Amino acid sequence: MSVKVIVATKNQGKIREIKSIFNFENWEILTMKEEGLDPDIVEDGKTFEENSLIKARRVREEYLKKKPQDYVNYEKVYIFADDSGLEVDALNKEPGVMSARYLGEDTSYHIKNQAIIDRLKGVEDKFRTARFVCAIAAIDTEGTETVVRDTLEGIIGYKEAGVNGFGYDPIFVLPDYGCTSGELSMEEKNKISHRGKALRKMLKTLTE
Ligand code: IMP
Repeated sequence: MSVKVIVATKNQGKIREIKSIFNFENWEILTMKEEGLDPDIVEDGKTFEENSLIKARRVREEYLKKKPQDYVNYEKVYIFADDSGLEVDALNKEPGVMSARYLGEDTSYHIKNQAIIDRLKGVEDKFRTARFVCAIAAIDTEGTETVVRDTLEGIIGYKEAGVNGFGYDPIFVLPDYGCTSGELSMEEKNKISHRGKALRKMLKTLTE
């Protein structure tokens, strides 16, 4: 029998990344939309872990309500949800869980990035530490919850650099690479990213 994973996201990039890591013949990875689910989700958690659990619990609830007998056809059905963001130490870990909503959801990342650079004016390198955090929750149909977290450590640069990636990548300097995460190729970034590392941790936890 196969394993089904329903991912609480509409982001195809995330689905691709999950498929490439959970790359087993009998594992089926679907978006909640492909599964016919689209619950209202209020992400009001105070931590990345709380938000990932809020999303996964909501989707599980909807799945069991809309498709009460579906899971009997599988060895296991998991609902996956992730939450990620940037923590800047000198800003008391802001923007944190507010990363997407920082200065308003519709504000461009050019403005958000410049605002962070401006707020760090006069702060020396050793205090410009920051990290991308990713928490992933997995819940099975019985309600067993597994949450993992991983990070990518870096420092906030003095200007934007790089056109790869998205969000805060252009100001996130990786000292070991001598460039920002916005200057890495997608393959290079996936190897070291907070999400990639958290997904591999989840794989290990669920399969060992
Ligand atoms: P989400 O939880 O994956 O939707 O990410 C929330 C927000 O965190 C994004 O909208 C970005 O602002 C920020 N973020 C998360 N991961 C990254 C990354 O790898 N690069 C740049 N920004 C990121």
